[in-house]
Amino acid sequence: MKILTVNAGSSSLKFTLFEMPEEKAIASGLFEKIGLNGSSYTIKYNGEKITKEYDLKDHSVAVKKLMDELIALGIINSLDEIEGVGHRILHGAQEFSEPTVLNMDVVQAISKYNELGPLHNPANLMGATSFIEALPNVTNVGVFDTAFHQTMGEEEFLYPVPFEWYQDYGIRKYGFHGTSHKYIWKFMSEVLGSSAKIISCHIGNGGSLCAIRGGKVVDTTMGFTPLAGIMMGSRSGDIDPSIIPFIMKKLNKSADEIITMLNKNSGLLGVSGVSSDSRDVEAGANEGNERCALAERMYAQKIANFIAMYNNLLDGADAIVFTAGVGENSITMRKMIIERIHSLGVATNDELNNVRGEFKKISTDESRIALYVVPTNEELMIATDTYNIIVGGNH
Ligand code: AMP
Repeated sequence: MKILTVNAGSSSLKFTLFEMPEEKAIASGLFEKIGLNGSSYTIKYNGEKITKEYDLKDHSVAVKKLMDELIALGIINSLDEIEGVGHRILHGAQEFSEPTVLNMDVVQAISKYNELGPLHNPANLMGATSFIEALPNVTNVGVFDTAFHQTMGEEEFLYPVPFEWYQDYGIRKYGFHGTSHKYIWKFMSEVLGSSAKIISCHIGNGGSLCAIRGGKVVDTTMGFTPLAGIMMGSRSGDIDPSIIPFIMKKLNKSADEIITMLNKNSGLLGVSGVSSDSRDVEAGANEGNERCALAERMYAQKIANFIAMYNNLLDGADAIVFTAGVGENSITMRKMIIERIHSLGVATNDELNNVRGEFKKISTDESRIALYVVPTNEELMIATDTYNIIVGGNH
């Protein structure tokens, strides 16, 4: 069965076509600068890659072009072969705690929460609408970044603020990267069993940690928005909220402008003054740039602190998993984090830690908590959720 996964942004549309349940990615690609000058698309299949410039007026033109190309390139023979389309949707709030079959009424219901994810949700839903219109007989499924975290208890998801903020305005921790953390959980439950307690560390450009017990999320570091938690590539993570009005006055900027600076000019970039990319910051530190070295130490320490907190919350984790761009690939950053959780009795060595982008247990036999590198695969998780809905017959 062929399942398409889609991640629609405001001017982009990323897709992967899977053969399920074989979990084989047949083709993937990206439509860029939709609605802007210089739009184009790239499609990869069979070891080949095509890139074409094309006037992509809006998302429905991109979807139509994608369908035409899948047939023209011989990737599928007819559109009937696509049985499901899984859409990445950032925010489902409390209402959408499971992957959900989409139709226009459901899209309308999800759009109530656009104000909780103003940068992503409208674009995600625009992508979904284009597919519902282009492929009306196909099962479209929404897979929410927030959904996996909905098992958190009140003690974890509530902020200690006036309770009416939660009741009246939905102010609570939602958590993000849920599709990635769910994938890591599924992968690790096959290795360690379904009652395992794991700390999933998704460390990429954005980053979040998630404490998972027996498939249920106990706590996660992102919050009401993806700005909270650990220090990230260009996001601050947790800071004292009183900084915001103070610096607004100093810089004569609005709250929105300061939030943008906390999202885009902070984290590794803000401290190092060099880059949000951990490769550049590592290179800077190696060349003796003190601020790059400081940024790296802060980054590692904040992640380590949350790991220690989650180990306590889980009453002792069975495994700590490193994933996403930095977690999978940065040998140096993993080493720096592991050095900072020494008190948990974890142990690795340079030989075991010498891995990039593939599954490996990196802890020694003496380590009290097992350490793993697991490449995440959010697209496959979306395809799996979509496939399960279709074969489960509840669509
Ligand atoms: P992601 O958001 O998961 O795609 O992660 C992207 C980030 O991963 C980049 O900004 C880099 O900071 C980091 N990254 C990717 N490859 C490497 C690498 N080989 N070494 C260190 N960091 C890497």
